[in-house]
Amino acid sequence: MARKKIIAGNWKMNKTPSEAKALVELLAPLVQNDDVDVVYCVPAIDIVPVVESVKGSNVAVGAENMYVEESGAYTGEIAPAMLVDAGVKYVIIGHSERREYFKEDDAFLNKKVLKAFEHGLTPILCCGETLEQRESGVTLDWIRLQIKSDMQGVTAEQAASMVIAYEPIWAIGTGKTATADQAEEVCKAIRECIAEIYDTDTAEKIRIQYGGSMNAGNCKELLAKPDIDGGLIGGASLKADFGEIVNYNK
Ligand code: PEP
Repeated sequence: MARKKIIAGNWKMNKTPSEAKALVELLAPLVQNDDVDVVYCVPAIDIVPVVESVKGSNVAVGAENMYVEESGAYTGEIAPAMLVDAGVKYVIIGHSERREYFKEDDAFLNKKVLKAFEHGLTPILCCGETLEQRESGVTLDWIRLQIKSDMQGVTAEQAASMVIAYEPIWAIGTGKTATADQAEEVCKAIRECIAEIYDTDTAEKIRIQYGGSMNAGNCKELLAKPDIDGGLIGGASLKADFGEIVNYNK
């Protein structure tokens, strides 16, 4: 069975609650495409108004982060149960900005992945190499290490239901997109890695996105590749272009 494409916006630290509602309204008529799962991953404070604003539409809401404990003395953190109760379905885990600025390592991210599943949230697990790593030829080794470390203890059934986002760090927010062939090479290697850890059935089911300066102009070529099942979109998710990406096949 063909995998359904999944196009997710990562709003990062943008949009106040009232701006968030306005963006959802702007995008509402533009993001209708039954062939695609559409997700808005939004800042924590925007979750409640955005869930309200997308009610009755084809859009699901994701969080950009969550903590690994159930509740308690973790000032400033958001528990998975809070996300679920608010209507969140997806959670981004291991975005390179969190790995870099907040020093989240693979052991911690593995805990987050397991915790997300415990609560019925679908992880969008990010991985990606630096420019130095690409230039020194270790991209595939690095990505495999990230996937294997972050997915320790994840069952085949859980793996089949999750999303992995391949996001080369040098392409995020830089306007430098990986070529469709570069992106396909890594997404294919990720699928092979999943087949190795689990089996080919799981590898055929898991959805693998490309992220890194995807926009209305380059999305068609990227999304035409056999192992690229969608996109994680930063900058272009904050404007009407996002609708063009969602409708890449029209
Ligand atoms: C991202 O942050 O996940 C991302 C892909 O950003 P951009 O599209 O802006 O490169």
